[in-house]
Amino acid sequence: MAAETSLILILEAGIPATRRNRIRGRLAEFGVEVRVTTGGEHDCLEVCGEHYPILTLSPESWEGVARVVTLAPDYPHAARKGDQPRTIVTVGGDGSDPVRIGEGFVVIGGPCSIEEEARGIRLAEEVKRAGASIYRGGAFKPRTSPYAFQGLQERGLEILVQARERTQLPIVTEVMDTADIGKVAEAADLLQVGSRNMQNYSLLKQLAQLRKPVLLKRGYAATIREFLLAAEYLLSGGNDQVILCERGIRSAAGEGGVILDLGAVPELQRRSHLPVIVDPSHGSSDRRRVLPLARAAAAVGADGLLVEVHDDPQHALSDGQQALSVPDFTRLVEEVTAVRRVIE
Ligand code: PEP
Ligand code: MN
Repeated sequence: MAAETSLILILEAGIPATRRNRIRGRLAEFGVEVRVTTGGEHDCLEVCGEHYPILTLSPESWEGVARVVTLAPDYPHAARKGDQPRTIVTVGGDGSDPVRIGEGFVVIGGPCSIEEEARGIRLAEEVKRAGASIYRGGAFKPRTSPYAFQGLQERGLEILVQARERTQLPIVTEVMDTADIGKVAEAADLLQVGSRNMQNYSLLKQLAQLRKPVLLKRGYAATIREFLLAAEYLLSGGNDQVILCERGIRSAAGEGGVILDLGAVPELQRRSHLPVIVDPSHGSSDRRRVLPLARAAAAVGADGLLVEVHDDPQHALSDGQQALSVPDFTRLVEEVTAVRRVIE
């Protein structure tokens, strides 16, 4: 099958044939087919084939190029092609009950940070009872202030493993540093890349080598394209088990400095085959907005939620202001389940 047109370079009016041919030659060096259209006011060069390496060289700035029209995304692995089926990511199954993300609706719950053993295990039992099917808890914490609680690190991972043994819930926890990938992957069923690390390409490249799923959170200043290009690092590197997470974007216009971009959910689902979940906790940074935003996320068609839960939010060591109590989390699961029943 002939490759489809992926890119058109509209050349400046009256461009000399020698310069046009030079541009054509530069394109052809990329192994693509180039068709030339002449006769109109503007000559055009139509590129068929893999155009994304060309796009990285800013062809719109090349001498003699008037405009560039891009007809295919530059994240070919993350992009959804035609009616390609949606990817389903299975989390857990080895010492835990497997959960399929991308069909149905999945709720992930747990504290921002694992703070101590008894609480870490008890919260896993409580979120399970409330209806969560994956347990979250931070061990390596990316904190804005160096004076803030940095997480229990390795000890936190051990507690998460105990929580899984007790509840059979798969666990998700953040990996911040390439040096920690081994131990985090050993403990966790799903590795979270936090908002601050969405564009940590060394981390993404190494996680691409892993045979474990990755939960990629949207950088809080990232466009949809940048988000999907971050996912492309994982997919093109060999890890196709990727879940996207909308977690709010930074804006002075948003209460608390953040706006949960729910429009990103259908947009990501249209452009990509990857499952998309929503984090209304970091997406609001205020527990009073978590339940309404969770309902909205369920209604907008997200594949699941990531929600911070604490049994004593007033005394939580991180993100207590946005943590739901266990009774409020229980109510949230009931309400989002009801919303899903209506829209399905
Ligand atoms: C978290 O999940 O606790 C977290 C730090 O999230 P984010 O990276 O979205 O800020
Ligand atoms: Mn948090």
